[in-house]
Amino acid sequence: MAEIAVIGAGVVGVSTAYMLARRGYRVTLIDAASVPGSGASAGNAAQLSWAYGDAMASPALIRHLPAIALGLDPAFRIRWQADPDFLLWGLRFLANATPGRWWANTSAILDLAALSQQELAMLLRETEIAFDYRLAGKLHLYSDAASFAAARGTVDRKKALRLVQRLLSREEAEDIEPALRLYQSEIAGAVYTPGDALGDAAAYCRALTDHLVQHYGMTTLLGHRVCGFHTDKGRLRALRFLDRDDLEIEMAVLAAGAGAPFLSRAVPEARAIRPVRGYSLTVPLSEGSPRVSLTDVKRKLAFAAIGDRFRVAGLADITAVGAGFDRERFGALRMAAASVLPEFQVTSRDDAIWSGERPTTPSSQPIICAARRTRGLYLNIGHGMLGWTLALGSARRLADLIGSSRG
Ligand SMILES: Cc1cc2nc3c(=O)[nH]c(=O)nc-3n(C[C@H](O)[C@H](O)[C@H](O)COP(=O)(O)OP(=O)(O)OC[C@H]3O[C@@H](n4cnc5c(N)ncnc54)[C@H](O)[C@@H]3O)c2cc1C
Repeated sequence: MAEIAVIGAGVVGVSTAYMLARRGYRVTLIDAASVPGSGASAGNAAQLSWAYGDAMASPALIRHLPAIALGLDPAFRIRWQADPDFLLWGLRFLANATPGRWWANTSAILDLAALSQQELAMLLRETEIAFDYRLAGKLHLYSDAASFAAARGTVDRKKALRLVQRLLSREEAEDIEPALRLYQSEIAGAVYTPGDALGDAAAYCRALTDHLVQHYGMTTLLGHRVCGFHTDKGRLRALRFLDRDDLEIEMAVLAAGAGAPFLSRAVPEARAIRPVRGYSLTVPLSEGSPRVSLTDVKRKLAFAAIGDRFRVAGLADITAVGAGFDRERFGALRMAAASVLPEFQVTSRDDAIWSGERPTTPSSQPIICAARRTRGLYLNIGHGMLGWTLALGSARRLADLIGSSRG
């Protein structure tokens, strides 16, 4: 039985471990944290956005760039950095923002999302893992007529890909989600995606890890950070750690999310990833909380009822690698959420505050390939805004690639 290590126990790493274990590999799952799902997967917006997939670099974002650069859009921040990787990332991001590139990237992401959806259906049939999965449906809310009219074009293009979305008036949206009657903002119209689902990504990571240990004999090495690779004539021989002996292994997958750029000396491909920091606030679910997932397009807020909790997530801050939690930015999220929904207007001891880094490429497409410099090392990184949605499809693609390269 071939042995393989997966570095990173977020949604991407755990899903990759699952695909490989099912194909008969003996997997060791490694993470610097002591619990799976502690990185960007821990407090995300929980959306399985099968029909969204929109790449971040878009003509609309570019039109808005002057306001973002001047700090006038509360949802975005750019911390300018005199770092060649940051500048190169920025230039490549701009090159991906043309209408043609945007649609090419978005279609490729939607394709991967469709594969993920298919793989998730299989996983739900094969395992009994619990992660508050629910076919919740999603409403994208547009506060002005111009942005709603622009959304119409994208909905039509997605229809051609057989994705089901409906354009609704505020009244029609309120019929689907009655809690919107209390939504304290203009709603010029909504796009409803009945097939979108949600689930707790952190619970998924923990439950699927346990399942793999129990049913596939997977080994875990948690609380240990990989700091490099030993190679021999360009072939992987071992993983190096900061705090334990090397692990001799000839095949490994790097699925370290926003941690990947720290290994970019050995894996230059990881330079294409910038952390885009976001925040979330989770409060107890109340009787009046919306059950359908909501995205407030203007405020860039996503709301989700996950089990007995209600979460708002948002903000996109292009920060320096390694920058931490920013109290002021979290305050901006709380204020924006409180301005539209009563759930966030009072604070309680049970509120959970969180921040994480989306590992984002200029095209928003993940990097799923064999490492250029090291034979035996594979990459599954850079899933950006949609890593939870794309995790299983990416894992499947990488497992196919590893299978075909081993002949
Ligand atoms: C606010 C916010 C909201 C979001 N909402 C959604 C959403 O609704 N839907 C969606 O699809 N996506 C969403 N995302 C994006 C999604 O959460 C990420 O794309 C996804 O979690 C990335 O998964 P990952 O496994 O690549 O990274 P992570 O979950 O960060 O996992 C990487 C793991 O690697 C470990 N690691 C790193 N370096 C090393 C090392 N050297 N050695 C050992 N271990 C290492 C880390 O400890 C970590 O556990 C959101 C993100 C944010 C921040």
